[in-house]
Amino acid sequence: MGDKRIKRRLFLKLIGLGGVTAASGSGALAYGYYSMKKAPEREGKIFFDMHAHLPNYAPQDELLKALSTHGITGIASWSGEKRILTYEEALNMPGVKEIDKGCLAEVIYNGNRGYIFKVQEVRSNFHILALGCPKEIDDSLGPIKVLEEVYRQGRLPVIAHPYINANVWNKPFVQKENYNMLRELYQMIADLGGEVEVFNGICIDIMPGFNRAKANEMAKNSISGFPNIKGTAASDTHRRLEQVKTNGIYLPADSLSLEAITIYTGTGKFERFEQPIARVSAALGLLEGKIRI
Ligand SMILES: [Zn+2]
Repeated sequence: MGDKRIKRRLFLKLIGLGGVTAASGSGALAYGYYSMKKAPEREGKIFFDMHAHLPNYAPQDELLKALSTHGITGIASWSGEKRILTYEEALNMPGVKEIDKGCLAEVIYNGNRGYIFKVQEVRSNFHILALGCPKEIDDSLGPIKVLEEVYRQGRLPVIAHPYINANVWNKPFVQKENYNMLRELYQMIADLGGEVEVFNGICIDIMPGFNRAKANEMAKNSISGFPNIKGTAASDTHRRLEQVKTNGIYLPADSLSLEAITIYTGTGKFERFEQPIARVSAALGLLEGKIRI
């Protein structure tokens, strides 16, 4: 364990932080590996990071440690991806017990208690978080159909990183010709329920030529004409456990049921907590995803 940590530190110093410092000068340390913190506990609130992709090959005690700190982690699966932890896989770990069948469980480890919630990130033309849907939704459906399917299952959709075109690497931002489609989705969300993720933890200025921070600004501006949409935040943890619960929303403390999470999230009874994921951590997580898939 100790060895591993020292190695990792050295590794980051050599290739991670060194590269970042060279690329961006004196502000680099602000994005450093160690500058990230878990969202603080708040009186009368429970923290909810609804968008996290965890590695199911990580040591079990490290997963349990990350999931048992305060707050709810949305265990976001991807259809067909076998190395991302699913809610159902998490239920098999010791100390994990369901408190709302099929979608919410508590995680007790080393005297700490956290919670996990079932989420699917449906990778349609736009990515849509299906909160607590019992049946998996097909990625090949168009985004309107995905929303319809989430509603049909009686659940809530959240449009993830609306301005990031995550399916096409050489066109990282959503193209102007798709803005009308996005407005259509927003209108549906405004009328029927749901939210838009306006702060995504890994939408950062990750390296020269790959600045995704502006996608969050665009997302915030885009909801201004929709008073029913408040805008959520989430870490979008990619593999790295230090990213879990660094971003999210504070819900009222009595949110430990599917019904409460759905109603409070859907009616804007939350406050966002935003924090850019440390650049090195984000880069390593994305890289690891590429290698592991
Ligand atoms: Zn995601």
